[in-house]
Amino acid sequence: YDDRDGKIWMDGALIDWREANVHILTHALHYASSVFEGERAYGGKIFRSREHSERLHYSASQLDFEIPFSVDEIEAAKTDVLRANSYSDAYVRAVAWRAAGEDMGVASSRNPVRLAIAAWEWGAYYGDAKMKGAKLDISKWKRPSPETIPCHAKAAGLYMICTLSKHAAEAKGCSDAMMFDYRGYVAEATGANIFFVKDGEVHTPKPDCFLNGITRQTVIGMLEARQVKVHERHIMPEELEGFEQCWLTGTAAEVTPVGQIGDYSFEVGRLTREIAESYEKLVRE
Ligand code: PMP
Repeated sequence: YDDRDGKIWMDGALIDWREANVHILTHALHYASSVFEGERAYGGKIFRSREHSERLHYSASQLDFEIPFSVDEIEAAKTDVLRANSYSDAYVRAVAWRAAGEDMGVASSRNPVRLAIAAWEWGAYYGDAKMKGAKLDISKWKRPSPETIPCHAKAAGLYMICTLSKHAAEAKGCSDAMMFDYRGYVAEATGANIFFVKDGEVHTPKPDCFLNGITRQTVIGMLEARQVKVHERHIMPEELEGFEQCWLTGTAAEVTPVGQIGDYSFEVGRLTREIAESYEKLVRE
């Protein structure tokens, strides 16, 4: 994937895709001092663009570093990347990290911070499963306690257990895995938040130890605008059996219906389809 045409924005300028490299002594590569964003452009416009740039700054602050570009500069850079690659619908990845520098130990405050923005065309995150209902495994890994990690940052280090969970899921023929949190409550999937429907009302885990996704917040707003009651609360594993519908939300996942989690089945019901379709419309408004 590194040997292709295209432009990537790096540290203030657009450069050739093939030249967008880092040194092997990059601090982030050794110690996960890296934060990132996943965004989608629809018709040339990034949905909730500014919120993503602000979250990138927030994530960096949680990891003790400051991005040397303002939110406005990041906004302009993202537009430049889309234009330079002539993308209309694309996934946008901004990543900021501690570079190689004087510190080669755990500390990194003397190392420069770098920022890159790449974009590529990326269709449905769950491929064919998208409207049929994705099949999820149940991960053996738990979302960690807020006392062990800055859990609201979109930081690379938080994804190690997500990758492991997703590998295990794929080995079982599933598209993704649902994770419980450190207390045993339902948390989220490896790169998306989760919603359930029961008796016409919606239940979604309270984001007190994982990312409160921008898509999640958008979908809650959509539900409330339809006067659908949304319960943000702790959800016990034994409740899974009683839920009728389930879907995932995320920038990459958009609104993806879930058909199965472990041994529990869900229907791709009316509300799920309605929300998925309205989200598709909203992102292009
Ligand atoms: N949780 C995790 C672990 C994620 O990686 C993502 C994707 N960024 C989400 C939730 C959903 O966040 P958003 O809706 O902001 O993309």
